[in-house]
Amino acid sequence: MSDKIYPPSKEFVAGAHVDADRYEDLYAASINDPEAFWAEHGKRVDWMKPFTKVKNVDFTFGNVSIKWFEDGTLNVAANCIDRHLETRGDQTAIIWEPDEPGDAARHITYRELHENVCKMSNVLKNLGVKKGDRVVIYLPMIPEAAYAMLACARIGAIHSIVFAGFSPDALGARINGCDARLVITADSAPRGGRMTKLKDNVNQALLHDVNDVKCLVVQRSGDQIAWRSEGDYWLHEELEKVDSDCPPEEMNAEDPLFILYTSGSTGQPKGVVHTQGGYLVWAAMTHELTFDYHRGDVFWCTADVGWVTGHSYIVYGPLANGATTLMFEGVPTYPDAGRFWAVCEKHKVNQFYTAPTAIRALMGQGNDFVEKYDLSDIKVLGTVGEPINPEAWNWYNEVVGKGNCPIVDTFWQTETGGHLITPLPGAIATKPGSATKPFIGVQPVVLETESGKEITTTEASGVLALKDSWPGQMRTVWGDHDRFQATYFQQYKGYYFTGDGCRRDADGYYWITGRVDDVINVSGHRMGTAEVESALVAHSKVAEAAVVGYPHDIKGQGIYAYVTLMTGEEPSDELRKELEAWVRAEIGPIAKPDLIQWAPGLPKTRSGKIMRRILRKIAENDYGSLGDTSTLADPSVVDDLIENRRNR
Ligand code: ATP
Ligand code: MG
Repeated sequence: MSDKIYPPSKEFVAGAHVDADRYEDLYAASINDPEAFWAEHGKRVDWMKPFTKVKNVDFTFGNVSIKWFEDGTLNVAANCIDRHLETRGDQTAIIWEPDEPGDAARHITYRELHENVCKMSNVLKNLGVKKGDRVVIYLPMIPEAAYAMLACARIGAIHSIVFAGFSPDALGARINGCDARLVITADSAPRGGRMTKLKDNVNQALLHDVNDVKCLVVQRSGDQIAWRSEGDYWLHEELEKVDSDCPPEEMNAEDPLFILYTSGSTGQPKGVVHTQGGYLVWAAMTHELTFDYHRGDVFWCTADVGWVTGHSYIVYGPLANGATTLMFEGVPTYPDAGRFWAVCEKHKVNQFYTAPTAIRALMGQGNDFVEKYDLSDIKVLGTVGEPINPEAWNWYNEVVGKGNCPIVDTFWQTETGGHLITPLPGAIATKPGSATKPFIGVQPVVLETESGKEITTTEASGVLALKDSWPGQMRTVWGDHDRFQATYFQQYKGYYFTGDGCRRDADGYYWITGRVDDVINVSGHRMGTAEVESALVAHSKVAEAAVVGYPHDIKGQGIYAYVTLMTGEEPSDELRKELEAWVRAEIGPIAKPDLIQWAPGLPKTRSGKIMRRILRKIAENDYGSLGDTSTLADPSVVDDLIENRRNR
């Protein structure tokens, strides 16, 4: 893809927590003697009863069991709040930036956070929530979402957050899926200037509720809302009835902390279970080292708390580290495509973390929106969610980072709790499009796709698996341990299988080539969709592209490309030919798309990932069985694409 290497500047290295030598040392120590390494690094969280056992892991299919720090006890909320009170009680814990730029931002100190979380904990208790009970959180990006998570953690309840953009059906399925006793929501909430009626959605989701699920409602907008005949409570009224004294519950390291469904890019979402101790150690350590977070920095992760990225890098990781974390209620393009940068300037953001889909969208709007703002406080830029096309990487680096900020392309999954493969910004020179090297304690391997044999040469190409556990690994699928084993441990025995394809280059750098399901086989050549997409996006008229395989009489599989053009560009047969020639020149004749379909929009999950499984069906002219589409951001995009496909 790209051979250019970008080492961090000398100044950056000098101030970084981890430089190249220290990375080598830490990495070697973590692999050579994981017991000793994690016995030490497990102390980054405060334990009520210190653990004596570090690691107890079995990856054998049929017998999979993962335990870390299993006899230790702790409380996650106390780690994220109470232990900071003495040293930084008056420091801002959460900066909240509302949807409307004209509305006042809020700064919540650690002391205020403590009071708010303790009170919310007591409200939950009053509503009958006990240790081990499940609570569904269906909230917009408001501070109460963090309070709710931490209140659950404080009393030992298990939260399951459902992204506030999900429909009543998807919400209902998730409420039933974990047999929740309580849903926490808001009346209605603005996002990008548009109101979503959250409480109405909850009412619909609970229409056939047989379990007497209670509902606690945060007043966000003050809109008139419909109340069920019983079981509904205003948070502000319940808060009147409680005090702010709530001792944290003593939890075992392996008690569940939360359930969270995956994005649904490849199929039915899975209810991923993370536990208390290992998860928190992992979230905190990756947050500090991957972003080179230093005390006093303002950290902004633009994800929603409804995704794992929001769990680990808006709430648990930053707060465990005593950081200042920014929570943004809005969207990148409201009121215009400069919003991210306006917020960075306004709050003097030091580390900025977003997704390739947002970068591509903003790149398509031109540089003026970025250049208007002073971004000189930014030190590190991060991305997550999909392979980032080198074109988008370069734009992020040059236009946003002014060539001064290391870019951390973090590869990980809901299942992994935190980063797995990522540069540490002071230690590893980056290459556009590569997630580079494993995080400390992580042992990636490349397996031959068919045989599952581990490829031991440095240069390798196949599927990505993990050889051993790390503290932040998921423990099971909620209520379905068999599915857990079948999904991750059956196909390649003895390994955790990520489902992603990957290439390791001569420098030992990892390049994620997309999901294994998305690999196409053209005349016997295996090709990751990411590579063809990146070539297309590198063309100046292309904003986004998604590539899938479809049955082809001669080649076995042909390359089908959906292309979204830059604002202002018009589709034409000429441009189609130009793009074909372009890909041919960029990668080679084998990669030339057989069919290009103009796509005004692409089907994406609500976290912004392209759903190729749907595009595959459309390319195959198979519209009857699109599979689970409940996690699609905008279903009408699919209808448009089918319409276009039929007309060709
Ligand atoms: P599902 O598992 O339900 O199909 P999903 O895999 O999209 O959905 P997530 O856990 O949100 O759900 O996403 C993890 C996946 O995102 C990874 O397996 C990988 O395919 C992709 N990914 C995340 N970060 C990166 C990255 N930095 N580079 C390349 N791919 C990435
Ligand atoms: Mg996945």
